[in-house]
Amino acid sequence: MSASPTGAVVPAGITDPCVHCGFCLPTCASYRVLATEMDSPRGRIHALKAIEAGELTLDATVASHFDSCLGCFACVTACPSGVRYDQLIEAARPQLNAPELRSPAQRAFRRTLFSLLPYPARLRAVLAPLRAYAGTPLQAMARRTGLTRLFGPQIEAMERLLPPLAPEAFRDDLPVVVPARGERRQRVGLVLGCVQRLFDPAVNAAALEVLSANGIEVVIPPEQGCCGAVTHHQGELEHTRTLARDLIARFEAVIGPGRPAGPEPLDAVLVAASGCGHTLKHYGAILEEESGGSFAARVADIQEYLDRVGLSEGFAASLRPLRHADGQAATAERPLELAYHDACHMLHGQGLREPPRSLLGRIPHVRLREATEAGVCCGSAGIYNLVQPEEAAELGRIKAADLAGTGAAIAVSANIGCSLQIRRHLEESGRPLPVLHPVQLLARSAAGG
Ligand code: SF4
Ligand code: SF4
Repeated sequence: MSASPTGAVVPAGITDPCVHCGFCLPTCASYRVLATEMDSPRGRIHALKAIEAGELTLDATVASHFDSCLGCFACVTACPSGVRYDQLIEAARPQLNAPELRSPAQRAFRRTLFSLLPYPARLRAVLAPLRAYAGTPLQAMARRTGLTRLFGPQIEAMERLLPPLAPEAFRDDLPVVVPARGERRQRVGLVLGCVQRLFDPAVNAAALEVLSANGIEVVIPPEQGCCGAVTHHQGELEHTRTLARDLIARFEAVIGPGRPAGPEPLDAVLVAASGCGHTLKHYGAILEEESGGSFAARVADIQEYLDRVGLSEGFAASLRPLRHADGQAATAERPLELAYHDACHMLHGQGLREPPRSLLGRIPHVRLREATEAGVCCGSAGIYNLVQPEEAAELGRIKAADLAGTGAAIAVSANIGCSLQIRRHLEESGRPLPVLHPVQLLARSAAGG
């Protein structure tokens, strides 16, 4: 393990504000399902202090209590003393990746995920043969009979999240520039997200539709890779830096005199996945260089951005009531009820609670229903639901019950990882509500409902 001469795992002073009050415990997802102090923010802070004092060694057992943390940052929101647990866990994660702290099987599985998930071309190559399986009766049968269990909990967890694979997921045919419709108000870049573009390409399609219809020109660097969120949230810093530099270079390659998107600068760089947005906004700290900071300064979640610039008058006027499952349009007497799921990297990581609700509220005759435990993680958390499948599944069941318990007809999620996790657990609980991104609902409403 790499550690400072004092044995400290995190920078000096970062744990000092903790007064061990325990206010963070009820919001902590890992504490919720494991119910042990060591798997709570307070317990981990206590362990870090003990390591610093030389009373505890960071061995595999202690590391496992840090690995149980989802990195959801609900504890940061809850803490009255201002403990920056987000900075603390980010500083600790790289050291948890020391080879001696994980088994060979754990290391091999993580290596496989990190060599696959951030690379859309590789992921497509693996997923292509599964097109004949995903979303078919064969998949339903394999799940029903428990066949997937034979491959172990991690492979089973991957299979359980596998959605039907749309043909668009296997194409890179988006234009470099999608023009604004009508008078151009702004010009933005779009980060497609690696998992999102493969597992739910309809989200980016809806984002382009909504932006263009709002008078916003969109630049889409071709062959863009992963923003680095998958590796960033696991403390794989050098890998994240490589991915971040590559993404910035893809933008620079298309914007400028004589380049495909022309010389005009971007007003913003948008993304429609909260986990990606959180990492993109941290490029300054991740890269520790000017290019990262200036790129990060323009990043916004698409909902944050649309709420900030406002819907165009024409787009707002085009919004029509959405339809209920029975085909009837929502009315004031019979509104369509939506349960918005706050992704942790949006709510706790970016401090964005109101923009999605405000945008959804622009659609006529929708009513937002609030989940009882809106601030608690759904268990997705990047690759958490693959590397810690049992804990993640328990959280997924809690979240699905909470969202379905609102009585809403549609669950709304703005993060691909959460959407896959929530869809899985809604289906498994026998309440398969549709799970849609807010921009999909806006696009649908603008298209006539
Ligand atoms: S992290 Fe904050 S909320 Fe949690 S025990 Fe420490 S001071 Fe209290
Ligand atoms: S980041 Fe989430 S899971 Fe980790 S300690 Fe904080 S509340 Fe618990």
